[in-house]
Amino acid sequence: MTGIVVLGSTNMDLVAYVARPPKRGETVTGREFTTVPGGKGANQAVAAARAGGDVTMIGAVGTDEFGAVLRHTLEASGVDTDLLRTADGPSGTAHIVVDDEGGNSIVVVPGANGTVTALAPGDEAVIATADLLLLQLELPQGAVLDGALAGRRHGVRTVLTPSPVRPLPPELLAAVDLLVPNEHEAAALTGIADPHEAAAALLRSVPEVVVTLGSAGALHAARGTAPLTVPAPRVTAVDTTAAGDTFVGTLAVALAEGRPVEQALAWASAAAALSVQRPGASTSMPYRPEIDAAS
Ligand code: ATP
Repeated sequence: MTGIVVLGSTNMDLVAYVARPPKRGETVTGREFTTVPGGKGANQAVAAARAGGDVTMIGAVGTDEFGAVLRHTLEASGVDTDLLRTADGPSGTAHIVVDDEGGNSIVVVPGANGTVTALAPGDEAVIATADLLLLQLELPQGAVLDGALAGRRHGVRTVLTPSPVRPLPPELLAAVDLLVPNEHEAAALTGIADPHEAAAALLRSVPEVVVTLGSAGALHAARGTAPLTVPAPRVTAVDTTAAGDTFVGTLAVALAEGRPVEQALAWASAAAALSVQRPGASTSMPYRPEIDAAS
């Protein structure tokens, strides 16, 4: 098995479904409510573990009841949580209002994630043994940078999902091997709307980029190679939540196994396409045999 370390967030998603979102000062009655374990870090960890990776999660949950559920969700998919701290106070939460037109508004309260400001003793030793390190931007920037620098020190391939998107400091970019934005994040980072041109611009800062393009697939760009586009399987999407995290977690396993990039992208696309055909975030993520059968 390939070693993948995820340094990232765990959130409980609290999702209310309404006909239309409330205006300021207004109360509306919702139709349905669900709680869904999520957070970009935890989602990528679950996707990678289900795809067959040997995955360790570094981050924090709170002492509330959500914390226990978030930890259990990771463990149920085979993620090692020995380095997942339990921080005094609430877990991270995402308060999501989904309206009948499929639009949503989201308030994220970092909770325990906000306590992860740096690597803890023991974290670096585990990162050092990994084939691949997965980072996102839902933890405090200091921890993300610490993780990337530890990855660089130990020659561990480091993959950053720049979400939620914000300007990336040069010292962080310098420690990233592969950047995986979606097309909106690629545009926000570069000011360039065309994803191919945005990817080319990002190659000035990082050696390799994959831009995900939703139902249009994904494009790969690396210094010194011709750009490559991989189509997404044509499927009927019922819920695209965490499609990006499924893609990245699965891609990580394929890359850590040393598969050629085109094959790795096709495998990740198959996994993400499976996930969008089912409701939920981590609940919708496929296991390896299913990904193999679909690719
Ligand atoms: P999300 O925020 O929903 O997790 P994202 O915006 O980070 O997703 P996308 O580019 O929308 O990322 O999707 C990631 C990958 O998921 C795509 O590259 C594609 O492989 C797959 N995917 C997304 N939507 C569809 C779809 N409708 N049909 C097939 N595959 C899809």
